[in-house]
Amino acid sequence: MKPDQYGYFGEFGGRFVPEVLVEALQQVEHGFAQAAADESFWGEYRAALRDFVGRPSPLLVAERFADPAGARIVLKREDLNHTGAHKINNTIGQGLLAVRMGKKKIIAETGAGQHGVATATIGARLGLDVTIFMGARDIERQAPNVRIMELLGARVQPVTSGTQTLKDATNEAFRYWTGHVEDTFYVIGSVVGAHPYPYMVREFQRVIGDEARTQMLERFGTLPVDLIACVGGGSNAIGLFTAFLDDASVRIWGIEAGGEGLESGKTAASIEAGSVGILHGSRSYVMQTPQGQILETHSISAGLDYPGIGPEHAYLHATGRVTYRAITDAQALVAYHRLAESEGIIPAVESAHALAAAYEIAKNGTPDQYVLVNLSGRGDKDIAQVASYEAELLARAES
Ligand SMILES: *Cc1c(COP(=O)(O)O)cnc(C)c1O
Repeated sequence: MKPDQYGYFGEFGGRFVPEVLVEALQQVEHGFAQAAADESFWGEYRAALRDFVGRPSPLLVAERFADPAGARIVLKREDLNHTGAHKINNTIGQGLLAVRMGKKKIIAETGAGQHGVATATIGARLGLDVTIFMGARDIERQAPNVRIMELLGARVQPVTSGTQTLKDATNEAFRYWTGHVEDTFYVIGSVVGAHPYPYMVREFQRVIGDEARTQMLERFGTLPVDLIACVGGGSNAIGLFTAFLDDASVRIWGIEAGGEGLESGKTAASIEAGSVGILHGSRSYVMQTPQGQILETHSISAGLDYPGIGPEHAYLHATGRVTYRAITDAQALVAYHRLAESEGIIPAVESAHALAAAYEIAKNGTPDQYVLVNLSGRGDKDIAQVASYEAELLARAES
């Protein structure tokens, strides 16, 4: 569905921003509406996905990963995209839009650095000047991605306010945009933020599900019984789900980061552990105190460690079309190792959350059924962090 003219999916979404940003957002909204109505824009976008990103991404039956008595697990291989995840589907779209709107500069926020890398990548390809806002603490923790962004010609701007992490970087990027709207386009990395971003980013990510639905019918002659994706802000999930929302027979699952468990307080499961509030310009589920202070979240996966969730997910939760569940750090790690050892693919720890849920859900099925999982990214980026996390767990268990 399209959000209403104010950017609402049901009661979620909208545009809760200072007056100075309203015009900038309207500019993006009109720019995107014009581009979206122009077949030549989508022609450029599809050509870039084919030649630069390497789409379409294949489906792979994960025979050894799944329980043989249950349903077959099929992976949508977003990990094979250039730069190793789904994020580039979106940055390509927004980059082409920036060029079309005559903007010479793009900015973005990044936490773990994945969206920063995807933005720096298309900035280089399209000849745009790129500034990436990143919390000072994240810059320290994610040194390799900082180096990659710089190698691609981007400027990485440290943010030293607040907790010096993603939410502070996002605030700072918004603040910068306020003063530089004429020549600067803000590339947001997920289906979050003020209207039109949740809708626009979805339109750039829906290629995942559009491809997968066609591929399922061509390859297997049937739709999956279950559709599963991990949810941080929610872009890879909504990208997969959109093509299937009208297929009443398909059960759809959004998997949030449970962290150390919903009861532990150390979690990033915005729907299950959060409440309705406003974050970064839209109304959705937010991890917050009763007074509306944003809480610090926890997940082993940096890409899921965000205190909000896109407003369309809040709506799909409210209507009951999608079921949201949390998977803990420990459960995700089991699936991470299982996929590596059984299929020869190291998944992103984000994707491992979806894989852990898929393993359990598929167990209850039968071998003539298919469970389709979005493998949102590859896990090379996570090797060191997983190793140190596991060493810490082991030390804790021994003491
Ligand atoms: C960023 C990221 C995510 C989470 O972002 P969404 O917008 O929820 O998709 C998931 N998987 C990978 C591999 C990522 O890099």
